[in-house]
Amino acid sequence: MSELRKDTCLTCGKQAHDFANEEALNCVPPREILIFGEYVIDKQYRDALFEEFPIYTTEEVVGSYFGHNPYFPSQDEWLDSKEV
Ligand SMILES: [Zn+2]
Repeated sequence: MSELRKDTCLTCGKQAHDFANEEALNCVPPREILIFGEYVIDKQYRDALFEEFPIYTTEEVVGSYFGHNPYFPSQDEWLDSKEV
């Protein structure tokens, strides 16, 4: 009966964030979260980033998406590299 509760944020312990409407920049979003405010992240890109860096916070995930992460390409670059 002890199913993993998903209504609590594992980073800050507060009620799980609605990442689409809330700026929880310093919390680690669950892998299935793809919408961060106005930004929608490609599922494949999100999965690839998550596998490499599973503890990235919202700020780091969105930063990577924009190409601010020296250790991982931006979403555009990453998708381009898949389309060879
Ligand atoms: Zn949190």
